[in-house]
Amino acid sequence: MSAENLAIRQRIAAALLNGALGDDGFTVCPGAHLHQGKSALRDFRVILTGAPTAFCFHSSCSTVVDEFNLELRRRIAAAERGDDLRPRTPSMMGDGVPPAPMPPRRLKRPPFEPLKLAQFAGQCRREITLDWLSARSPVPVPTAAAQGPETARLFLDALYDTDERVLVFTRFYSQGDFMVTAGSGGCVRLADKQGVESVTSPLPHGGPEGVWFLNQPITGDWKINNATTQGGDARWGRRHGDCVTAWRYLVLESDVADPDLWLRALVQLPLPIAAIYTSGGISIHALIRLDAEDKPTFDAIRDELVQVVCPLGADAAAMTAVRLTRLPGMLRHGKTNKEGTLQRYDRPRLQRLAWLNPEPELEALVEIAK
Ligand SMILES: [Zn+2]
Repeated sequence: MSAENLAIRQRIAAALLNGALGDDGFTVCPGAHLHQGKSALRDFRVILTGAPTAFCFHSSCSTVVDEFNLELRRRIAAAERGDDLRPRTPSMMGDGVPPAPMPPRRLKRPPFEPLKLAQFAGQCRREITLDWLSARSPVPVPTAAAQGPETARLFLDALYDTDERVLVFTRFYSQGDFMVTAGSGGCVRLADKQGVESVTSPLPHGGPEGVWFLNQPITGDWKINNATTQGGDARWGRRHGDCVTAWRYLVLESDVADPDLWLRALVQLPLPIAAIYTSGGISIHALIRLDAEDKPTFDAIRDELVQVVCPLGADAAAMTAVRLTRLPGMLRHGKTNKEGTLQRYDRPRLQRLAWLNPEPELEALVEIAK
């Protein structure tokens, strides 16, 4: 039997593409906004056998396609962890494109144990709600009705040092749509291409599927991405590891835990929680302040943390050192369906900020928040 589970791979790829993936692997390119000339339906194809790889007929979208491929392989490798029998079959394209290497295997990621979550969460006797958190937040947080772009500002200015730069995204696969300079009121709208000037702009109020930010501060410059560059074909980006200036935050989120239990568990963990906010849906995210001196240190701490938080339902794939996460205070207008079209919510949903503590201690939140 093959170590590849194509049904699982198909589900992972479809989730990354927001459900828009036909059985033949053809779909709309996630970087279609960068195409020069007309996009066609059969430009972009995802091959899930062997080393999973997506190809696009266009080259102008290569940074987006590279990001997509990295994330696709990371998620599939995590799902298939423990499989040493994975065959290294050549690409089905038969076009001389070498299969990309799989990422190195990490420590085993323990599976979600619902009973463990229920038991641990149950040790917190009171119900923990977003209102409860926001009434006790060390930095006062506006009520949900009063949140907006100023809340996003408050959040970024609290969590990043003066003059540090933070990338903000209204499109998940872009190289950053806005850049905020913390503590200065500065914000620019970024161009998709190198050499095109950015323009001064306020933060947006929201995005079609919400708004994200990159967890670590970055230089703001385009740099060659050594992780995806092979041979002489340099890949440029401004959201990869070589652009990072500090390894400060780790993202904790869960797709599988009951939100009530997840919150009760989060507040009992002796972790330095800098912020808690929502996805604009039911998902609740926490930002953990690590302050690792470099990426290997970040990864080592992360690998230990995985052992503790994954049985409680944390998503290991979200715990990578370079990660997009929801920017609180922003509105999310909808969700993309299987056909790749945006389904608007009846009313936009707030990515709500509930807790803000820029200098957290190694102490359970519930002890601080009494
Ligand atoms: Zn493309």
